[in-house]
Amino acid sequence: MIRNVAILGATGSIGTQTLHILARYPDRFSACCLCARSNAEGLFQLARTFRPRTCGLVVEPKEIPDDLRGIEWFFGEDSASRALAVSGADDALCAVVGIAGLDAVLTALDTCERVLLANKEALVTGGHLVTEKAKRLHRALLPVDSEHSAIYQCLQAARGNVPSRLILTCSGGALREFPREQLANATVSDVLKHPTWRMGSKITVDCATLMNKGLEVIEAYHLFGLPEEKIEVVIHPQSVIHSMVEFADGAVLAQLGAPDMRVPIGYALGEPDRLAFGGERLDFTRMGALTFASPDTERFPCLAYAREALRLGGSAPVVLNGANEEAVAAFLRGEAKFGQIPLIVRYALDHAELKPISCAQEVYEADARARLLARACLRHL
Ligand code: NDP
Ligand code: MG
Repeated sequence: MIRNVAILGATGSIGTQTLHILARYPDRFSACCLCARSNAEGLFQLARTFRPRTCGLVVEPKEIPDDLRGIEWFFGEDSASRALAVSGADDALCAVVGIAGLDAVLTALDTCERVLLANKEALVTGGHLVTEKAKRLHRALLPVDSEHSAIYQCLQAARGNVPSRLILTCSGGALREFPREQLANATVSDVLKHPTWRMGSKITVDCATLMNKGLEVIEAYHLFGLPEEKIEVVIHPQSVIHSMVEFADGAVLAQLGAPDMRVPIGYALGEPDRLAFGGERLDFTRMGALTFASPDTERFPCLAYAREALRLGGSAPVVLNGANEEAVAAFLRGEAKFGQIPLIVRYALDHAELKPISCAQEVYEADARARLLARACLRHL
């Protein structure tokens, strides 16, 4: 049976790699819904190739080409959710960037059997809402993020044993070896040179600040239910081990492979089958040493801030995420220095009134207040 897959964030790094796999398996998958924000030309091209039933764009283009008028189009902020809801998708792969993806993830849980989650910010901000809804509606929530996919794969050999520790590996980002005195003034082009992965610009900046790993600690907490202190982060610059799970007897299981997001994407799509896609293989005899180190939270405090937000709970992770999204966007526009990103996040955490979160509306309110604080901080820096 062919599975209908909706791809939210279709024009991005994860979206296009997902479509690469779908194109190889036309007898297993069909792309029934494609959504993006403003890249209309990119979406038109994908729509021509994959002929989805519905498409969504946040920014309405001047016109829809004649050959694509048979598709049902949706526009506006909630276009992804509306296009998804009527697409007949069995699976939704959520690869929108930022909290903008939360609404679509919640809609996907209403309408799809399986939600394949790349959009970590949806779990960071709406974690309990998402996991409780998935449980209540018996939906599968499958990780696409490479570390969480690695842990998920390792846990399939757990046979009921509860892990004693999750070990998230971290490349260290583009600025791992950057001279300390130049770090605060690192440029956008310094930061976007990620050593091992090719990704969208927001996550690449998050990798350089280590906020990405902080968001991933929160993501792991929601996906796997282990407390914050049992989720460790280890710098592993070669990005060969994608993460590990330790058990009561001290045994550690790891998932290894070339750094290629099509592995975790394919695993989420095909589970329990593994889908070959012609990617690079590891050559152990030529790989050289695999090295490990502790993260430097003095140079890169965002990881510690994320752990603090997770421990505080309630709206704290929403504040952390909202302030970070504002700070990263300002950095990418050239309006903030790299070194100001952690200062902005710290300011928002220190000044936000933390509240419990019981519905999506409360998430969006906390996010909006955090963004105001972040902008106020940026004006005074
Ligand atoms: P990109 O910036 O490459 O792509 C983002 C996609 O989302 C684009 O298609 C963009 O459309 C679309 N989009 C943005 N805002 C909206 C919106 N409001 N409604 C609908 N679509 C929207 O990001 P990535 O693919 O790198 O990352 C996507 C998510 O996956 C992030 O949460 C990231 O943290 C996570 N992730 C990514 C990894 C990677 O290797 N790239 C690895 C692990 C996780 P447009 O092109 O029009 O702007
Ligand atoms: Mg990751």
